[in-house]
Amino acid sequence: MIPASFDYVRPADIGSVLQILKQREGEAKLLAGGYSLLPLLKLRLASPALLVDIRDVPGLAGVRRTDDDIRIGGRSTHRAILEDAGLAQVLPIMREAASGIGDPQVRNWGTIAGSVAHADPNSDWPAVLLGLRAMLVLQSADRERIVPARGFFLDPFVTGIEPTEILTEVRIPLPGPHSGSAYRKLERRAGDFSTVGSAVSMTLGDDGRIAKIGIGLTAVSDAPFEATQAEQAIHGAHPSDGMFREAADAAAHQSRPVSDQHGPAEYKRAMAAEMTRRALQAALERARAA
Ligand SMILES: Cc1cc2nc3c(=O)[nH]c(=O)nc-3n(C[C@H](O)[C@H](O)[C@H](O)COP(=O)(O)OP(=O)(O)OC[C@H]3O[C@@H](n4cnc5c(N)ncnc54)[C@H](O)[C@@H]3O)c2cc1C
Repeated sequence: MIPASFDYVRPADIGSVLQILKQREGEAKLLAGGYSLLPLLKLRLASPALLVDIRDVPGLAGVRRTDDDIRIGGRSTHRAILEDAGLAQVLPIMREAASGIGDPQVRNWGTIAGSVAHADPNSDWPAVLLGLRAMLVLQSADRERIVPARGFFLDPFVTGIEPTEILTEVRIPLPGPHSGSAYRKLERRAGDFSTVGSAVSMTLGDDGRIAKIGIGLTAVSDAPFEATQAEQAIHGAHPSDGMFREAADAAAHQSRPVSDQHGPAEYKRAMAAEMTRRALQAALERARAA
């Protein structure tokens, strides 16, 4: 199919983008990489009257570090994140997740904000940002909001973003000493969307106990979610194989997978446990080495 007709603009600055979103509220859609939006247009599952291409808008891409957090511009591509060696050193989970997204073409064009705003329940960044307890910067003509990723993903393809807002930046708290993070993704073939994905971020205290823990899961519910029961099961505990198995089982228990082309629900539930156990183990090894 071919898309329904639409108008197209390519503003050169963020102020113009925000004004257009305000004036054409509900009619305009941002266009970043186009790797999720264009298929929807072609299938006529979306028919916006206006596409606002943000490729020329300066200041929306790139990774920078402050004293408190790491800030990733919304228009940063999966490839830019994959290739950022400084980022990979502090947050190896980012390179791990980016490397498993689609193929080189998808990674060259697709952006982190596009993925987060699209909120496909099988996509990888939302679970990673939940595990990392990231914050999202949402800008409209009238205000800026900084909201937690936790609580942002409401339903399949539904988030807390307003039609007048653009996601300008993702902020990830700077991990302290003895921190580690990892993403484990199960896919049927290389380049596929996740059958199951589990993202873990962990900080060990001076006594070796788990002082901070974040676990995000993808593809095993209507929307990506934080595995709070698993987090509670191990927070404050000394890490051990038994403890990690308990947390992994809790993550599976909290999952609500459905049977589909990726596999039966019970298989996905079992894999949610296994991917979580592996991500916990990898994060622990990195935290001990940090
Ligand atoms: C073959 C294929 C394989 C893929 N495999 C994977 C995979 O394994 N894992 C995975 O996670 N993803 C995968 N994807 C999805 C891919 O990562 C997309 O690039 C991404 O989901 C959307 O990013 P985009 O920049 O292309 O956004 P677009 O398609 O341009 O936009 C998507 C949505 O986000 C909105 N949007 C875009 N930018 C912003 C912004 N800054 N603020 C607010 N709203 C915005 C748009 O209006 C639109 O509603 C795959 C896609 C394809 C086509």
